[in-house]
Amino acid sequence: ITSYLSPSNGSSRARRRNLFSPVVGLNVLGPTTTIAAIATAAGPAAVSIIRISGPEVPAIIRAVATSMPRPRYASLQAFRAPNGTLIDRGLLLYFQAPASYTGEEMAEFQIHGGPAVVQQLLRAVYAAGAQPAAPGEFSKRAYLNGKLDLLQAEAVADLIAANTERNLNAANLALAGQLSLQVKVLAEELVTARALLEATIDFAEEVLDDAASLELFERISRVRASIGLMRNSARHGALLARGISAVILGEPNVGKSSLLNTLAGHTRAIVNPRAGTTRDVLSVDLDFDGAFMTLHDTAGIRATMDEVELEGIARAHAKAETADLVIYLYTSETPDPRFIKRIQATSRAASKLLCVRNKIDLLDLVPSRRMHDGHLEVSLSAATGAGIPLLRAAVLELLELNVDAATTPLLARERHLEALRLADGALAFTSPVELVLAPEISAERLRQAQQALSELTGEVTNEDLLGAIFSRFCIGK
Ligand code: GDP
Repeated sequence: ITSYLSPSNGSSRARRRNLFSPVVGLNVLGPTTTIAAIATAAGPAAVSIIRISGPEVPAIIRAVATSMPRPRYASLQAFRAPNGTLIDRGLLLYFQAPASYTGEEMAEFQIHGGPAVVQQLLRAVYAAGAQPAAPGEFSKRAYLNGKLDLLQAEAVADLIAANTERNLNAANLALAGQLSLQVKVLAEELVTARALLEATIDFAEEVLDDAASLELFERISRVRASIGLMRNSARHGALLARGISAVILGEPNVGKSSLLNTLAGHTRAIVNPRAGTTRDVLSVDLDFDGAFMTLHDTAGIRATMDEVELEGIARAHAKAETADLVIYLYTSETPDPRFIKRIQATSRAASKLLCVRNKIDLLDLVPSRRMHDGHLEVSLSAATGAGIPLLRAAVLELLELNVDAATTPLLARERHLEALRLADGALAFTSPVELVLAPEISAERLRQAQQALSELTGEVTNEDLLGAIFSRFCIGK
């Protein structure tokens, strides 16, 4: 139909692939080097693993180990320096290309985790023809050899970095390709829409009638709706991945340190009945129902002449400026509207405010939640712990993290948010009228959206992007 849909492209599969990936130029690896790296953490350990990948792997094994093992079977071997000195005995695993993580010849040496052992063996491996691996180079090779797409490669890094069960689940789903599949389905929808449109451009007699243009528009709208859902889930994922930053603000003695301690489940902040004791910003990391949260307790905000305390108050405000959540704590019956104004003036627009009334045990009140002047308010006792579950639920609700267990968030990076934003932006101005009157413009919008989605999985990509992604991996991954 058009150049890239040309029937001369051979099988329908090849044609589809061409249309789907207009700018692919990768996946052609020339002769590569053989890389080596320590795959385990630094420092003395029971076991360390050295990993090598590349065409020289069999030669390196012959130079360093006793014998060439059967692929994918562990064998106990002696590893020797170039001069024949024994370095260590350990397990050797050999993976024959292409059945390996990178898709290349690969081997793993499992040796004793002493610094001298590891360094000596690494030196022997270098002497036999390997080079030090760059950060993420194993995963980059896996990507270039088609073993993983970009989303999956990033999921490997997320899996390693996962600090809560929720993040772990999300990384595992992405690694299993679920995320890539979602993106591909959307991109394919766009391809279909494009093909329909391109036909009307190339064959003047195939003008879209009203029904067809409406149907096409609905198809595009469905894609936009799906992208919208993904963007939401990506925003949550980004929040989960970097962790939620929360700050407790309030007058001295309202119980900020006590609340932090209760939430942390152990004594971290100093609780003192004298006003103005928390002079610095204290932080604790919490697993907040599966979300990683750093909670900051701040100096009491009040008019004071004490310089040290003033510094603490300044830091409290600085924290509020970047926080995702501000917990405003007080003991009065209602929150002070002036205080709320001040919080809103200093905190960023996207941050959420939760009003929390403390010390209800002194008045024999039961914990409760309500809306007060448009703000969610929870009343509780930090001392007895009554109402803490209400607080937890309110926090998750405000941050829109109370998604049911079935919806695992997308562990998104800025790159993903940007690509989804671009895809959505490209489609935002299509209309049924435009589809009929200016199909070239609509087709170009579809192409841009498709390109943005393809960049997510790495169907379309460039060296700079790859460098940016893999350089953030650890060495040996
Ligand atoms: P901060 O200055 O806001 O950090 O307040 P603290 O956490 O140091 O608490 C000040 C005082 O209030 C301490 O004596 C706490 O034991 C007490 N306190 C904190 N929360 C409660 C509460 O829920 N009930 C009661 N009865 N006392 C509390």
